Amino acid sequence: MNSKVEELVKHRVKPLSAYRAFAKSFPAKLDANESPWPLPAAARQRIAELVADLSFHRYPDAGAHALREALAMRLGVSDPDTLVLGVGSDEALAMLMRGLSQPRAAGLQARVMYPEPSFVMYGMRAIVEDCEPIPVPLTSQFQLDLAAMQMAIERTRPNLIFLATPNNPTGNCFREEDIVRVIELAPDALVIIDEAYGAFTGKTLAALSVRYDNVAMMGTLSKIGLAALRVGWVRLSRKLADEVEKVRQPYNLNTLSQAVATLALTELWPIIEAQIADIRQERTRLEGMLHSIPYLTVFPTDANFFLVRVAGDAEDIAKELLERGVSVRAFKGSTGPLAGHLRITVGTPAENELLVYALRTL
Ligand code: PMP
Repeated sequence: MNSKVEELVKHRVKPLSAYRAFAKSFPAKLDANESPWPLPAAARQRIAELVADLSFHRYPDAGAHALREALAMRLGVSDPDTLVLGVGSDEALAMLMRGLSQPRAAGLQARVMYPEPSFVMYGMRAIVEDCEPIPVPLTSQFQLDLAAMQMAIERTRPNLIFLATPNNPTGNCFREEDIVRVIELAPDALVIIDEAYGAFTGKTLAALSVRYDNVAMMGTLSKIGLAALRVGWVRLSRKLADEVEKVRQPYNLNTLSQAVATLALTELWPIIEAQIADIRQERTRLEGMLHSIPYLTVFPTDANFFLVRVAGDAEDIAKELLERGVSVRAFKGSTGPLAGHLRITVGTPAENELLVYALRTL
C-alpha cells in the first residue's frame, strides 16, 4: 500500500540508511571506539550522590554554564562562550551545517567538504541539512591529497571543511603541514579540525585556531569513557559561536549529562586520564598481537582503534568473530578503499586476548 503521507519524505532522505549500531553487549565489544573501562565503584558512588540532588522538575540550565566553564578550563580556553555544546559532536557538526550554510550563490547549496574515507556522519548529515557533500579521496597512504583538495576547493568553494585527525576509520593523523595548506587554500571556508580521538595522540592542533580565524576545533567526551553522556563541542570565534548558538536547541544537554560531565572534567579527571593512559599502553600490546596474525595487514594508528586489512571476506570474518563473542566493525561492499577492512577498537586486556584467540582459530 502506498500511503499519501509516504510521499512527504524528502527525496534526499529516502536513499539514506538510518545509523545502526550494536545495542547488545558482547564478551568483547570492539565495534564502536568506546573506552572499554567502566568508572570505578567510588566514582560511580560519587555520581549517584550528585544525581540524587538534581532538580528533575526543572528544565536544565539552557546555557550549560558549569559544564562550559569546566570544559574551558580543561581545554585552556579563556572564554567559555566560544564553546557551543552538542548532544555529542554529532549534534555539534549538524549545528554548523545548519547555521553556517549560506549558499555562495542563488540556486546552489552550501558545500561541505571532507576526505574519504572519514567519519560517515559528515556526508550523511550534510544531506539531511540540505548541504551538498563533497568527498575528496585520501591518498593510498590515507593522507590528504592536496592536489585533489585544491582542485575541489577551487571548483566547489565549500562553506565547511571537516578534517578528523586522527581520522576515523583509518586511525592515522594527517600531516600538520597538509592541514595548514588546506586552511590557507580555503580562507573563506571554515575548517573544522575534529579531534574526537585527540586524547590518544597526546597532542592537539588547537594552536591553529589561534593562528587562523577560519579554523574551529571539535571534540567529544565519547571516546574517553563517557559515551553514554552524549557531550560534544565545537570551539569557534566568539562571533561565530554567537551565531551558531541561535540554531542550538535551548535544552539540548540534559541535566544529568551536564552534571556528570562537569564532575568528570573536574573531580574525576585523574581517573579519566589514567584510563586514557591504560588504553594507549594496551594499544601497543594489541598492535604486537595483531601483527602476529599472518592474514592481517595492520595499519599504524594514533587513535583507540586499528584499521586492518584481511586476506578474505571482511564481512564473513566479522560474522564469525561475532559467533565467538567478539564484535568488530566490518565495512560493507567489495569495492572502494575500505573493502576487505575491519576496524577494531582497543579493548581491555581480556577482550583483546579473546579477539586474538578468535582471529588465530578462525
Ligand atoms: N567525529 C569522529 C571522527 C567520530 O569518529 C565520531 C564518533 N564515531 C564523532 C565525531 C561523533 O562522536 P560523538 O557524537 O559521540 O561525540
